[in-house]
Amino acid sequence: MSARTESAATASLAASCGDATSAATTSLAASRGDATSAATTRAATTSAAAAGAGASRWSAINWTNSAALIGVHLGALAVFWTGVSLPALVALAVVYWIQIFGVSAGYHRYFAHRSFRTSRAFQFVLAYLGAAAAQMGPLWWTSYHRRHHAHADDPRDVHSPRQSGLLWAHVGWVLDANSAQMDPRYVRDWLRYPELRWLERRRWLPPLTVIGALAAAGALLERARPEWGAGPLQLVAWGFFVATSLCYQVTFCVNSISHRFGRRRFETADDSRNVAWLALLTNGEGWHNNHHRFPSSEKHGVAWWEVDVTHYLLRGLSMLGVVWSIRTHGQRVDGEGKAR
Ligand SMILES: [Zn+2]
Ligand SMILES: [Zn+2]
Repeated sequence: MSARTESAATASLAASCGDATSAATTSLAASRGDATSAATTRAATTSAAAAGAGASRWSAINWTNSAALIGVHLGALAVFWTGVSLPALVALAVVYWIQIFGVSAGYHRYFAHRSFRTSRAFQFVLAYLGAAAAQMGPLWWTSYHRRHHAHADDPRDVHSPRQSGLLWAHVGWVLDANSAQMDPRYVRDWLRYPELRWLERRRWLPPLTVIGALAAAGALLERARPEWGAGPLQLVAWGFFVATSLCYQVTFCVNSISHRFGRRRFETADDSRNVAWLALLTNGEGWHNNHHRFPSSEKHGVAWWEVDVTHYLLRGLSMLGVVWSIRTHGQRVDGEGKAR
């Protein structure tokens, strides 16, 4: 991408976010992408300073994120009012699975690590599915995850249990005002895509799509199969609020549990660990120590018994020609990382 294109793309994002360019709002500009190189320099400096000061934590509450996160968990309590049915449990399983796929295959292995290649159309599908998990937009997610790998467990890592404790690494950092800011330096390769910038600004749309589809399915079932006991509110409660709450928690566990508890196959410089039960719940993301050793590898399970469903799915999609150029750790694992 040419510097001009990149600048234009970044400027577009900045403009779309209603950016301000005054010196007084440098930090805000940094988080949203300012067009000028001078501002970018200030942005980097400001961002680095914020990152360095990150260890002190709790700058202020991010009310938008906090309200959304708490609201989703409170919404899950509606199941005590709506009751349960087989279609509701099916909706829970299907949406949870889609959200995990969107985050694991899309946000993480594709956008953050570019572990494989795909078409521009499926790239957008992956971004949309990832955003359906209501974990912010693909650019925000990728920015923070790349920063995590660049500074894993050092003071600039925004969610390190070593630096700030388990609770902060799990959820505290998401609720903090500093985390509303995205550092565009980490996502320059993606800013050139207008559809990704469009989705970033409308990150609420995929979750609303899920809610709308569930409500419609529930209304149809209520009319067509009243004996099944399903309805729109029930399907939304289980299919969106419970599924999204679970997806939040297992994703957060990768940042907290997988950097504190579990087994270390590789002596990486960070505290990453493999956690089998979390790998099962996240379709392979729990093999986090393997992942930190080979971050660009699409395959997170190293031993044959390390179940990595996202890897199996991506292999299947590669056979269908949907994805290609999959990157693996190859033979490099030999001789250093015996199963343990
Ligand atoms: Zn990590
Ligand atoms: Zn990663």
